Amino acid sequence: SANEMNVEFDSVAKNESFARVIVASFITSTNPTLEEVSDIKTAVSEAVTNAIIHGYEKGAGKIWIRTVVEDRSVYIEVRDKGIGIADVKQAMEPLFTTKPEEERSGMGFSFMEAFMDRLEVESAAGEGTVVKMWK
Ligand code: ATP
Ligand code: MG
Repeated sequence: SANEMNVEFDSVAKNESFARVIVASFITSTNPTLEEVSDIKTAVSEAVTNAIIHGYEKGAGKIWIRTVVEDRSVYIEVRDKGIGIADVKQAMEPLFTTKPEEERSGMGFSFMEAFMDRLEVESAAGEGTVVKMWK
């Protein structure tokens, strides 16, 4: 049967590794390969980094991660209530970034898409962002 984890933490850079580790630890029951664990950690890391540097660029806030596992499948949601994304389709294009001056390469969503089986992004300007990922 399904098993769910919910966690809330502050949008500070040091919590990026915390987020990666708790998700990796929670999904252990699905018997993932090392490659699957590594892929999921990369995707979580990209989504959390985005929430911190883009979502809450104007000040700290909360980030929520929900993870549901069932048999060998993993579902992960990374949510923020930050500035949101006006044009999600454009934001998800490879190399698109709104912070080129900060050495951002615009590849975060492309990595999430490549490392996970399915990716959905729901967002609206001023309302925050939800990144949904399946593997
Ligand atoms: P990189 O991830 O390569 O360092 P990046 O973060 O700019 O660069 P993506 O992760 O692909 O690239 O995100 C693309 C763009 O989408 C960002 O530049 C930003 O404008 C927007 N974005 C992504 N996540 C969020 C978020 N949680 N809140 C607000 N805007 C976001
Ligand atoms: Mg990014």
